[in-house]
Amino acid sequence: MQIGFIGLGNMGAPMAANLAAAGHAVTGFDLTAPAPQGVTMADSAAAAAKGAAVVITMLPNGAILRAVATEIIPAMAPGAVLLDCSTVDVASARDVAVQSAAAGLGFLDAPVSGGVGGAAAGTLTFMVGGDEAAFATARPLLDVMGQKAVHCGPAGNGQAAKICNNMILGVTMIATCEAFALADKLGLDRQAMYDVVSTSSGYSWTMNAYCPAPGVGPKSPADNDYKPGFAAELMLKDLRLSQQAAVGADADTPMGQLAASLYEAFVETEDGRGRDFSAMLPRFEQRGRRES
Ligand code: NAD
Repeated sequence: MQIGFIGLGNMGAPMAANLAAAGHAVTGFDLTAPAPQGVTMADSAAAAAKGAAVVITMLPNGAILRAVATEIIPAMAPGAVLLDCSTVDVASARDVAVQSAAAGLGFLDAPVSGGVGGAAAGTLTFMVGGDEAAFATARPLLDVMGQKAVHCGPAGNGQAAKICNNMILGVTMIATCEAFALADKLGLDRQAMYDVVSTSSGYSWTMNAYCPAPGVGPKSPADNDYKPGFAAELMLKDLRLSQQAAVGADADTPMGQLAASLYEAFVETEDGRGRDFSAMLPRFEQRGRRES
């Protein structure tokens, strides 16, 4: 298939390389990043999009997605599909879907989970919003870049699924870390805490699969000095998107709101930037109780 790929950063580069390795003809564009293996570079986003059956975008945020979409949509062939794999706000995804439909194009929002490791290994999970026909067109590409693609409903629902999942993840990580810090202060051994919680009703992915306590549970970024993994600033981005969506939808999300403010403080004033999001545990360890 002829594919345009715009945004060849940490995630986009390995995804594009995997598509090229699978035999697709990939034409890429990025403002700064070099050509990934097997990808031919174009001089502009519009040139990368021209003639492609599917144009994939993997960009930093909704404002950039909107700008790139406005540039490439007029260059795309009628019937082609714009497949946005970035994590962006739900409103931007839905607006670009409307813009695409008006030009006779398919649109899918397909944010991912799995991080840079999953992108390189071709094992990402895609959460996809958009119509069935576009999903069917993109499916063979999603199968190359990932191991699972869940069709979540109309445009915007992929982003909705992503931010709801990551809101649970952020809240749960904080709960797990504060409970470990409390256990420490109560003299409860971390291994005993893990052994109980991981098989009791407090269990979660953050405890069982990504334990924030070094040396406890399966290997995780905690065992590598909290090098990411999933960086705290990316968690903050997703939590902010969840709260932006909650405001727009008039949804009461007190735990998500608190998680967003705790990760904001962690990233912006407490040296959390560049550390894994599970480094909330050493943060809690260093603190005493603060009455609000
Ligand atoms: P990145 O910053 O490494 O890559 C983004 C790329 O987009 C950069 O190379 C940049 O030069 C390029 N770009 C910016 N504006 C452009 C424009 N106008 N035209 C062409 N190229 C442009 O970011 P990343 O880590 O690859 O993340 C990409 C997206 O994936 C983000 O939305 C992020 O939230 C999401 N995501 C990232 C991870 C992760 O672990 N890194 C995990 C899941 C989802």
